[in-house]
Parts: sequence; C-alpha cells; structure tokens
Amino acid sequence: MRIYLDHNATTPLRGEVVDAMLPVLREGFGNPSSTHAEGTAARKLVERAREKVAEALAVRPDEVLFTAGATESNNAVLYGVLRDAQGASRGAHVVTTQVEHPSVVEPCERLESEGVEVSRVAVDEEGLLDVAAFEKALDQPGTALASVLWANNETGVVQPVEALAAAARRRAVPLHLDATQALGKIRIDLRDVPADFLSCSAHKLNGPKGVGALVVRAGRQVPPFLAGGPQEKRRRGGTENVASIVGFGVACELARLECEERGARYGALRDRLWQGIHAKLPRVRRNGHPEHVLPNTLNVEILGMPGEVVLQALDLEGVAASAGAACHSGSITPSHVLSAMNRTPEQARSSLRLSVGLGVDESQVDRVVALLVELASRARRAEAP
Ligand code: PMP
Repeated sequence: MRIYLDHNATTPLRGEVVDAMLPVLREGFGNPSSTHAEGTAARKLVERAREKVAEALAVRPDEVLFTAGATESNNAVLYGVLRDAQGASRGAHVVTTQVEHPSVVEPCERLESEGVEVSRVAVDEEGLLDVAAFEKALDQPGTALASVLWANNETGVVQPVEALAAAARRRAVPLHLDATQALGKIRIDLRDVPADFLSCSAHKLNGPKGVGALVVRAGRQVPPFLAGGPQEKRRRGGTENVASIVGFGVACELARLECEERGARYGALRDRLWQGIHAKLPRVRRNGHPEHVLPNTLNVEILGMPGEVVLQALDLEGVAASAGAACHSGSITPSHVLSAMNRTPEQARSSLRLSVGLGVDESQVDRVVALLVELASRARRAEAP
C-alpha cells in the first residue's frame, strides 16, 4: 500500500464528503437559479453548505462567495481591489510578503507591470514575518491592500495573523489572508483575526477539487470577477458547482468539529517523523519555526541528498512526498520560500516537505524514516571515494 505524505498538495476525500456528494451528482441536478422544485432543492443545498463554510471561519454566510478554489479567490481580491483603487491601478500600493503562493506572487507581478507599487516584506530564518517591517510598509501612502499567507504551503509556518490584522485595522488598510493551508489544520476564527478578505480551497481539507471560497467581510467590496449572471451576489456569474459545494460544506463542518483532535493526531505523527529523522540521520535540520507551524507539516533539509533524487527513490518505494510546493515539482529552481529564509540554493534543493493527514499512521511514519536512513547511507556510499 502506498504511503501518502503530501497532504499540503492535496488530500483524499473523506467518506462523509463522498456520501454527501453522490446523491447530488446522481439526482440533485437542479439549477439553483431555477424557481421550480428541482431548482429550489439545489438552492437549499448551496445555502446550507454556505452556512457550514461560514461557521468554520466564524463569519456570516452572506460574507462567503463560492469560487473554483483559492487561486481564483486570490486573483479576484488582488485584481479586484488594486485595479479599482485610484483608477486603473496606477499609483496604488500593495503590501505582501516574500513567501506567498504563486497565486498571489504572479498577480502581484502583473499588477506591478501595470504601475502598482508592491512591497514584499521579508521573513526571518525561521520563516516568520517581521511585524515591524509589515507595519512600516502599511504606512506608505496609497496602501490599498495587504495580502499575507496565513500558513505557508512549503514550510507550514503560521504567521502572527492577529498582530498583522490589528496593525492593518489600526491604519484602515484592508487585509487579505490566504488561509488555504490553515483551514482544516488549525482553528480559523475571524472574530479574533479581523481580516477583510480570506481565501480557501476545499481540496486541502479532504473536500473536492475545483471549489473554494472568497470571504468578503461586511463593508468591503470586490467588483464582479466573472460577469454573466446573478450568482454569488453578481460577483461570480455561472451556474454553481452544487455537488462540490455540498462536499466543501461537509469538509468544513468536519474540520470545525475535529480541529483540536486532528491537530493533536497529526502533530504527534509529524513529531515522530522529525524525531526519527533527527535521531538517525546526520546533517539534518528543520526548515521553519518549530512552534509557529501547522501540526501536519515537516520541512526538513537533509544535506547531501538532493530533494529530487530522494523524492524519486521514495516514490519507487511507494511513498509520495514533495520538495517544497507541488507546483515546483520537477523544476530545479530553488524554492523562493526557502531562499527568503536565507537558505543557499544547495540547502533549498536538499529540502523535503513531508505533510501528514487522513490515513497516515505511526507504522507508515516509521517506514518512511527507515527508507530515508537507507537512502542516506546509499548516498554516502556513492559519495565515498
Ligand atoms: N494558496 C495556497 C497557500 C495554497 O497552498 C494553494 C494550493 N497549493 C493555493 C493557494 C491554490 O489553491 P487551488 O489550487 O485550490 O486553487
């Protein structure tokens, strides 16, 4: 049986999610915008799911817009707010960080080419954002938005979002948080973290792919990002993906109910993995703050073992893992996240991301540690003259 340690790339569906989706796929084919019985039944399902997503984030249901995932949500906020601000984006300023996901990095680059000024705040060697530098960037005149990754996809590092939100609030700068990796792994409560916008995606929390949400808090606006219909408050036209939205709702409900228990279970597996690697392998170190980190994520540098080679060998032995972001797999450019944490290209290339989740158990973790030990001794034998 394969061992899947790549839950930050995507996750398997929960049985409860499949069970909720199947009847919708089989029979619940109504269009939620139709006024007949089939349509109103579908509308009910969508609105029930919206309540569940809202509850998991501690926001109001009417603050949740369904999207096709976090990439779309991130694009919608950045383009929506910045292109609107101060006329066709020119002269506006956005504050972001050096460790964002490409779905924030690339829109920021595009906006920059259109005349928006972009400040990318640095992180320290443990991947934590410098709050004072963030505040200083916010103070620049014309700041129309700040956009920060709640928890990093490569390292799992969790940013001090309460302090960041308070800083943004004091200056009345709208704050967008990309909570894609955080939701389902740690508690998200927007009553404690007063962000204005939030992005998330169902497939990171044992829900289906191709569905997610953009939270727009009351009093904030995004212009329509898909024109063509009244759906999602006229912000995103197009017939809703009802079955996937239902699955997303169930995934959020389970995440809310199980948050602490999951955290403890995943944290114990992740710690066992690290303790095994640390005790048995030379020249290893952890990338990212050891406490301000998602419970399921271990990013580890094993010097002398190039990530791509280890990943291929692990895959052949039945283990799926990743070298940083899934989107970077197969590329040899060192991760921008690890580079921002002051790692050399060689260190970055010797880093592995192991992320646990549903279905992973202790015996699997022990097997992966044993495999890594074997690979390391093989690599050392090959190195020896
Ligand atoms: N943000 C973060 C932090 C992510 O990890 C991902 C998924 N890798 C995304 C955004 C994009 O999510 P999706 O692929 O569902 O659009």
